[in-house]
Amino acid sequence: MDIVKNVEQKCHDCQKKIVIENKEIKNGVLLSYENEGEKMLFFKCKDCFTKSRELKNYQACEVYSRVVGYLRPVQQWHIGKKQEFKEREEFKINS
Ligand SMILES: [Zn+2]
Repeated sequence: MDIVKNVEQKCHDCQKKIVIENKEIKNGVLLSYENEGEKMLFFKCKDCFTKSRELKNYQACEVYSRVVGYLRPVQQWHIGKKQEFKEREEFKINS
């Protein structure tokens, strides 16, 4: 899993640093969730995980974007347009 290879990982709830050595999480757990077919991964430190297994202060972010002429929440788009949204590229126009 790519996320485990990253050096700096923080606890979702308290932002404490998660220590990972040789792909082994030393002071916490990795939680995996699925949201509309998308896999989401979060680290939690042992202290927070012992207190509660649920994510605290989690808020899903509603993203609006333009689709066929209207601004609509991306979550409500159909699967084809969601894929097109993922493939969109951001660029800056120099003035
Ligand atoms: Zn924590």
